[in-house]
Amino acid sequence: MAERTLIIIKPDGIQRHLMGEIISRFEQKGFKLAAAKFMQIPEVAARKHYAVHEGKPFFEGVVKYLASSPSLVMVWEAEGVIEMARKMMGATFGFTAEPGTIRGDFSCSKGYNLIHGSDSPQSAAYEIPLYFAEDEIADYDFADSAWLYGKND
Ligand code: UDP
Ligand code: MG
Repeated sequence: MAERTLIIIKPDGIQRHLMGEIISRFEQKGFKLAAAKFMQIPEVAARKHYAVHEGKPFFEGVVKYLASSPSLVMVWEAEGVIEMARKMMGATFGFTAEPGTIRGDFSCSKGYNLIHGSDSPQSAAYEIPLYFAEDEIADYDFADSAWLYGKND
């Protein structure tokens, strides 16, 4: 099994009709969707999700934001997916994220930045089980994986 990351299209991404756009970027990059749930994240779960930020000035605000309206919670899989997805997301704040990234192209806000992505293997291992049981995460192969990774021998 290749590396997995937790990606959330956050409430502003849904409200701003950007689900398809964001999914397309990961799909076309070659990442494999392994699980997805469209759900309004309960406040308790949002607190657990952002527990690493507890006590920071933006903590209450970001918990409220994440729980405010439905999100699309997903697990994507690829070799090196965590770092690649973070690059594709762009810097945290929409107004400083580089053009060409998801946040850089579609957000000019500070905190309302459309998307969450695990920032390390440790974060992914903490975050994925907050939303998915192991048997809800699909394990399958792409028919073209040799073409994706250049392992044709
Ligand atoms: N956030 C915010 N103000 C800040 C820092 C972060 O509103 O000063 C929000 C923002 O939505 C961000 C989330 O809190 O995505 C988590 O912050 P983190 O530093 O983990 O950024 P990320 O990993 O999402 O780039
Ligand atoms: Mg983070």
